Amino acid sequence: MTSFVLALDQGTTSSRAIIFDDASHIVASAQQEFAQIYPQPGWVEHDAEAIWQAQLATAKEALARAGLTAVDLAAIGITNQRETVVVWDRRTGRPIHNAIVWQDRRTAAQTDDLKAPQTAALIREKTGLLPDPYFSASKIRWLLDHVDGARTAATAGHLACGTIDAWLIYRLTDGAVHATDVSNASRTMLFDIHRGAWDAALLELFDIPPSMLPEVVDSSGVVGHTAAALLGAEIPIAGMAGDQQAALFGQLCFEPGMVKNTYGTGCFMLAQTGETPVRSASNLLTTVAWRLAGQPLQYALEGSVFIGGAAIQWLRDGLGIIDRAPEVNDLARSVPDSGGVIMVPAFVGLGAPHWAPHARGAILGLTRGTTAAHVARATLEGIAFQVADVLEAMQSDMGQALGELRVDGGAAASDLLMQIQSDSLGVDVLRPSITETTALGAAYLAGLAVGVWDGPAALAPHWQLDRRFRSTTDPTARQQRRSDWLRAVTCAKAFRAGEGER
Ligand code: ADP
Repeated sequence: MTSFVLALDQGTTSSRAIIFDDASHIVASAQQEFAQIYPQPGWVEHDAEAIWQAQLATAKEALARAGLTAVDLAAIGITNQRETVVVWDRRTGRPIHNAIVWQDRRTAAQTDDLKAPQTAALIREKTGLLPDPYFSASKIRWLLDHVDGARTAATAGHLACGTIDAWLIYRLTDGAVHATDVSNASRTMLFDIHRGAWDAALLELFDIPPSMLPEVVDSSGVVGHTAAALLGAEIPIAGMAGDQQAALFGQLCFEPGMVKNTYGTGCFMLAQTGETPVRSASNLLTTVAWRLAGQPLQYALEGSVFIGGAAIQWLRDGLGIIDRAPEVNDLARSVPDSGGVIMVPAFVGLGAPHWAPHARGAILGLTRGTTAAHVARATLEGIAFQVADVLEAMQSDMGQALGELRVDGGAAASDLLMQIQSDSLGVDVLRPSITETTALGAAYLAGLAVGVWDGPAALAPHWQLDRRFRSTTDPTARQQRRSDWLRAVTCAKAFRAGEGER
């Protein structure tokens, strides 16, 4: 008998549903975008009700496309945009405000207060995170402080909060379950990643009543069942993880030292560190990877690059030198190298490991001979160099050389980018045949909990190599290019428009 698992992949711009069979093949999928709400510069919100409706609609559509009904599903797994928060009223089941999205910067000033050395150290020690508006805690506090009557209702125990996974479970179970998994909890800045529990001191720091918080559960394990009326049967909800952690699981990075990088709008690299939460000396984040039922917490080191595939979109939309993103490859391939041009894609500052919010993009080394093709090639190199910087920081934090890099995400489709990546790292780059690793990871977590697969080891044959990219450059040439790149980064960091002599 075939067993099917439904993955709900709730992303920043769309909700998707993908049905996998027990051989990890995609049987059917559906996707719906929803509105991005920008009430003020730097603010980003989502309508939590719209997210739920889009998610439910895609689940029904995927089932219909697969020619299946709810009784054919062995389990549901959820993966989601991380850090984004919803606060809702338990009495009505309705959100008290739009969700505040991870990209939202409204709590920047509040977060500056957390940068005092003692407070920053406390946060770093307990949560593995750095003080930044990115994480959930300051957003929950903002809602309590700014929505009429919210604090009184919260103190009276009427309000519930959670990241998007918790919100979806609450709706899927018709209000019966209020839970979040350890990986999502680890992104809130309220969770002690060593003890695996909400932290009283942090809750006090952010002035958040503990009664609002969801129960923290395993990433793989039955948490509840869908209300029968929604999809036509009660289906076990058996897997949950934040999107990047789900991708790490979907890539089967189960051993310490295994690394994956996702090339989407930005790039997200996670290295599995097993039962050890590795503390970073290079400003990488220490985060929970997942927890399987009855097993200890597993940890990861994480580094994010803000502009990845978005740099290619800029070649298309900003410069107009290509019409569609995939055209970058032919253009860049039309020259043997970038002709000495270096492009630093610091359009919104630089993320890990540089953390330079004020840096801006730069193209250096232009000559009369420079063409659009050189700029295109330098752009692909700029993406790869940023990823190389993160990998190097990870190697230094972990005290070991990382053997190979597993890749996924939209821009991992570019053979040239993957070759450049391997060349810039001197490490093999492995692209699997299924690059929907985020949804696949959620499906695996859910399927493992209900016996679709016997255990993580049973998944090994499902990871199929599409292509391995091996480095073709010699170490001296590689070192030379990296040194050029690092000097270009220094220039991009040093330049501040309008700061010259007046
Ligand atoms: P996200 O999940 O962040 O929306 P995706 O994983 O869908 O992103 O990846 C989209 C990115 O991949 C875009 O920024 C686009 O520029 C890039 N991209 C898509 N196809 C290709 C390709 N064939 N070659 C290079 N880049 C590509």
